[in-house]
Amino acid sequence: MTDTTVYAACKVALLTQHGKEKVLAPVLEPGLGCRIEHVTGFDTDQLGTFTREIPRHGTQIEAARRKARIGMDRSGLRLGLASEGAFGPDPISGMLPWNVEHLLWIDDERGLEVIGRAQGPACFAHRLTSSWDSACEFAQQVGFPDQYIVMRAGHQDDPRIRKDILAWDAFAAQFQALSAMSDTGQVFIETDGRAHANPTRRAMIARAADDLLQRLCMPCPACGLPGFGRVESLAGLPCSDCGTPTSQPYADRYRCPTCAHDAVHERVGQTTADPGHCPCCNP
Ligand SMILES: [Zn+2]
Ligand SMILES: [Zn+2]
Repeated sequence: MTDTTVYAACKVALLTQHGKEKVLAPVLEPGLGCRIEHVTGFDTDQLGTFTREIPRHGTQIEAARRKARIGMDRSGLRLGLASEGAFGPDPISGMLPWNVEHLLWIDDERGLEVIGRAQGPACFAHRLTSSWDSACEFAQQVGFPDQYIVMRAGHQDDPRIRKDILAWDAFAAQFQALSAMSDTGQVFIETDGRAHANPTRRAMIARAADDLLQRLCMPCPACGLPGFGRVESLAGLPCSDCGTPTSQPYADRYRCPTCAHDAVHERVGQTTADPGHCPCCNP
């Protein structure tokens, strides 16, 4: 890590009502020397919910930028931070639940934006059932009560919704009540995606914070502003048997988000790839 003092003693606005300050502050405050100012009093659910009552408009980055700007406006600070997550199928097989987290840092002092990212397997599942045993099995599988659940009568968009179910007895009572309300007796049960309600997502947000921290600690070699970081890996590590370029990475491309200067850094350590990755030796 290089000079971390650019943001020493600076205050950073963070608008959240879902406990993200507890995940972000322990990474960014010691790493940067900054102070995270938790901004409250604005219902971020107005900008979109995971449970579909209010759809999010635009991309994850646009949503994060809106939140960061609201936090900066309300606090009067020139530094802002916001996180935005999304759930979906994994990009390789499309079979696994997947979580992509973006963390946006806005610095109006220097006129820059830096984005930290992390992605990986998610706790994101649902079940439609009229059976209490099946409901219990689902809850156990997802790690309730550490992982919160959300329930609806009948189907996934039914307005009769119950959130913030924190204990088994409340879960049982709400399941019975919703089942009685539902025409089919079925209850739609799903994992809660909000940060304070989803431990797996909190860990992903912490990883995005690590990524952001690394970028903020790396000044661009051309313009000197913080945020220089890896944008892609470059395939082509030569096969150890025949020297043919393989699908394995040999280097990473780094780029400055402000001046767009980029540089390729070769990876140190591994100089050849296993022939198992070679298109000639293992077609
Ligand atoms: Zn630059
Ligand atoms: Zn080969």
